[in-house]
Amino acid sequence: MAVGMRRRAARVPGAEGNGNVTRYEPEIVVAPPGPKARKIIERDNKFITPAYTRSYPFVIDHGQGSFAWDVDGNRFIDFTAGVAVNAFGHAHPEIVRAVEEQARKFLHMAGTDFYYDVMAELAERLCAIAPGKSPKQCFLANSGTEAIEAAIKLARFATRRPRMIAFYNCFHGRSMGSLSLTASKAVHRRHFSPLLGDVSHAPYGDLDFIENILFKKTTPPEDVAAIFVEPIQGEGGYKVAPKEFLPGLRRLCDKHGILMVADEVQAGLGRTGKMNAVDHWGVVPDIICWAKPVGGGLPLGVMCARKDLHKWPSGAHANTFGGNALACAAGLKTLELIEREGLKNAREMGDVLIGKLNDLVARHSIVGERRGLALMSAVTIVKDKQTQAPDHDLRDTIVNRCFERGLLLLGCGENAIRFLPALNVERGHIDAALSILDDVLKDACRTA
Ligand code: PLP
Repeated sequence: MAVGMRRRAARVPGAEGNGNVTRYEPEIVVAPPGPKARKIIERDNKFITPAYTRSYPFVIDHGQGSFAWDVDGNRFIDFTAGVAVNAFGHAHPEIVRAVEEQARKFLHMAGTDFYYDVMAELAERLCAIAPGKSPKQCFLANSGTEAIEAAIKLARFATRRPRMIAFYNCFHGRSMGSLSLTASKAVHRRHFSPLLGDVSHAPYGDLDFIENILFKKTTPPEDVAAIFVEPIQGEGGYKVAPKEFLPGLRRLCDKHGILMVADEVQAGLGRTGKMNAVDHWGVVPDIICWAKPVGGGLPLGVMCARKDLHKWPSGAHANTFGGNALACAAGLKTLELIEREGLKNAREMGDVLIGKLNDLVARHSIVGERRGLALMSAVTIVKDKQTQAPDHDLRDTIVNRCFERGLLLLGCGENAIRFLPALNVERGHIDAALSILDDVLKDACRTA
């Protein structure tokens, strides 16, 4: 971190530097990708699989808070947070300290075979954060997909039922079990069959379809172990659950003895201004899955379920790295920061962000609608506001133009641009980022 701080002081014009650049604005000194970035990308292209989803050539050197510097010295505003992982931006000093302190004690001891307090303490905190009063227990993994795999296995084990239900446009991961639930893009599934055969999909928000089509024609409710739902569909395009959907789903699950699994991998832990996204609806799932921010930037995924569901015996499910000590230490500090300042700031800055995104929708013919909650927000790019016809290519162009001007964004769904700033983002970053996007949209409108 000390290196990062030194470089920042040397490279970043502050109030005393270039009068045109405020401390919140990006600074592009070499058109990206610069020569150093190009060299790394060339090597990467040789040795890294093409299956990854890079949309523009950003090569990080270091980060600090809501800024990330590339290897050629350009400073970018980072509104991706490492895809919702870096809840408190880059190199938060308290998280770095927690990791350093843990590293000096031990890096790894395999929590599935031995005991250590930082893992038990994190699980205790997470059980307290999970919605509902009944006692809970956690299974710790390394990623979102593994948390979902654990939920699939526990749901089958606890109910002795084979089937699952998920929703079109959902994303629950890419390993074979979670992929069987995922239904947002054909590319995720092409040539990977056979997947788990016992998964049915319903349109997101459509309880009637589950009761009157699935239950009556293909998927008898007494065969269904669990229904998996994202309170806000993330990769599917930041679609928020309709008002009555999650409470109705809870009632449906109760009626048929089906477990409700909330996938909070992207939406959970403060991003929507509440600890869990389901808290916006006051719904209590039987199982909740977290990942992304839960490890404070280190790999961690968590499946937290009612204690009475953990009927499985020793050896039924385990892994080597899940609950790694460094990730638990970073996660504990992250939870403390979320409670101390993240929730409040996400609500306040979420309002600022939403106000500005609404303004873009009102002013630009190519911005169709705003979606999401608080710091999990998006806008769609459309060919025509009236029909809301999606413009996928223009969305990609806009994201790339923002990158060239120093703003890191990501697309999601067919035509959405998502905004995932750190939970401690400042108003100045939002002003600077949205001003860049506004300029890019104006240019895009002129050339469209
Ligand atoms: N669930 C949701 C809602 C996600 O957004 C993601 C990843 O984007 C996953 C599960 C899978 O997480 P991972 O990429 O860590 O396997």
